[in-house]
Amino acid sequence: MTVAVVGSINMDVVARVPRIPGPGETLLASGSSRGGGGKGANQAVAAARAGGVPTAFIGAVGDDADGAQLRAWLEDDGIDVSGLSRDEAPSGVALIAVSDDAENSIIVVPGANQSLTALADAQRALVAGADVIAAQLEIPIDLVVAAAEARGEGALFVLNAAPSAPLLDAADRVLPLVDVLIVNEHELIDIAGVTDRDAAVDALSARVPALVVTLGAAGSLIAVGAERAIVPAFPVDPVDTTGAGDTFCGVLAARLGRGPLSLEALAAAAHAGAAAAAIAVPRVGAQAAVPTAAEVEELLA
Ligand code: ATP
Repeated sequence: MTVAVVGSINMDVVARVPRIPGPGETLLASGSSRGGGGKGANQAVAAARAGGVPTAFIGAVGDDADGAQLRAWLEDDGIDVSGLSRDEAPSGVALIAVSDDAENSIIVVPGANQSLTALADAQRALVAGADVIAAQLEIPIDLVVAAAEARGEGALFVLNAAPSAPLLDAADRVLPLVDVLIVNEHELIDIAGVTDRDAAVDALSARVPALVVTLGAAGSLIAVGAERAIVPAFPVDPVDTTGAGDTFCGVLAARLGRGPLSLEALAAAAHAGAAAAAIAVPRVGAQAAVPTAAEVEELLA
């Protein structure tokens, strides 16, 4: 079982503040830290570290110090970075404020993440050899489509439609390629175009074989065909929920295996994802908060 994650990679610069500043306001932070981020890289770390499966990452960094550091951090987790290209644009950066009551606000400067619009041969080979391919929408939609089309026979394409905006005028092109669609409640409503949650789930689950709607501390709703189930979250006190969704998605992808997709298989994968996310949310950071596979197993036992 191997996973290929096609997505974004950023240097996260995190400041801890008493509250999220309003327009025109300057606040003093109690401290700051730098760490690996970007939905793609976060999900690759989650699949490799917490999911415990061989993982390749396909994306782009700049030819700069941040890019070298980001590559090294992925390598520390044993992730195959032969598909991480080096671009002329600077590495992506995310400026993150985390408040004492666990709210956050994030500004992303995509940089090199926007430069990759097609797969090079080596990147295509990584995708073709994977059992599960996971992508998100912080990269050009053409690259998402290329990744889905490059998958091998029987492999699953998992799309975390975050952020949802790029999908709004590309849904007809992208959704037919998706095996498992993962969205949070806001993304669900945006993409389905209806405000009632049940109606939105019905509308979207008619378009993809499997749908997962994450509901924060309320867990997740999963749908395979007409079947539905709720996978509860593990109760914890949140400190920093940055990357909770990514941890969930990466572990879910790692635990899916190669189909066939059933409600039971999806529930088991979502349960493992919820366990990993529950260990991550009381910790600060995105990739730094991702637990090991042993920690996940202990919570699941
Ligand atoms: P993100 O803040 O990373 O963008 P998201 O909106 O994509 O998150 P959520 O629905 O917040 O995703 O969280 C994904 C999963 O993580 C949930 O289904 C749940 O299992 C777990 N989770 C999130 N928040 C909490 C929490 N406060 N307590 C326990 N589990 C949580």
